[in-house]
Amino acid sequence: MGLTHAPRGANGAAVAEQAAPQPRASQPAVAEPVESRPAVETVAIARPPAVPQAIPAAPIAAAPVDRAGREAALAELRERHDRECPHCTTATAHTHTVFGEGDPEARLMFVGEAPGETEDQLGRPFVGRAGEKLDEMIAAMGLRRDQVYIANVLKSRPPDNRTPLQHEVDACGPYLLEQIRILRPQVIVTLGGPATKLLLGTEVGITRLRGAWQAWKAPEGGLEIPLMPTYHPAYLLRNYTPKTRSEVWSDLQAVMGALGLSRA
Ligand code: URA
Repeated sequence: MGLTHAPRGANGAAVAEQAAPQPRASQPAVAEPVESRPAVETVAIARPPAVPQAIPAAPIAAAPVDRAGREAALAELRERHDRECPHCTTATAHTHTVFGEGDPEARLMFVGEAPGETEDQLGRPFVGRAGEKLDEMIAAMGLRRDQVYIANVLKSRPPDNRTPLQHEVDACGPYLLEQIRILRPQVIVTLGGPATKLLLGTEVGITRLRGAWQAWKAPEGGLEIPLMPTYHPAYLLRNYTPKTRSEVWSDLQAVMGALGLSRA
């Protein structure tokens, strides 16, 4: 049973059934090379050229492969981001930057839009109401939050939670791309329009793109990761209909299929 039929919680939102977490032992410690990733059908979209890239890409060959190497690379990136990010060092509406969190060897990475109020207060991604919904989505897939990695396009909260502006995405987005190069998940799930637009370099809306496999292609080449666009959990909360719930659940089931996950 998925999100479609999930029981409702106190806020009227679906409460996904808790499923037995997948044992880590069955998951490869290191992301598999592109050639051996699960076959997924993709849908062609027109691609405008530029995914913003203000920071020179770290050579793919130098990407760390073990847990300790990834942790160190993420810590270095976080420190450099907080020191240098042209957006986050000049933005004024936030108290904390929200770098992202999760398993550095996660096979699955979720990418959202930007921190909201609770995230800004705690310095952690998706810990407010939208985060509760994302937690349900993760649990519905039979995973725990600490088995995935969660990050955002912007690492500091925009004023009044407004949608990120293009110049903010251009400034902060490259650090997300560096995060992805370090993590090299087997699948990326983009949550909503801004994350999908950045990683696919497209203006096509999320309603058209969701549910169809795409790929994040590193601008410098050499790395391609299957990407599933789906609705943002905050959108789901605002539009909690059988249709949107079943659409998101179908997107998540496609990801589970690609990762070989089943709910016990
Ligand atoms: N919405 C997002 O896109 N990211 C968060 O971290 C929280 C809410």
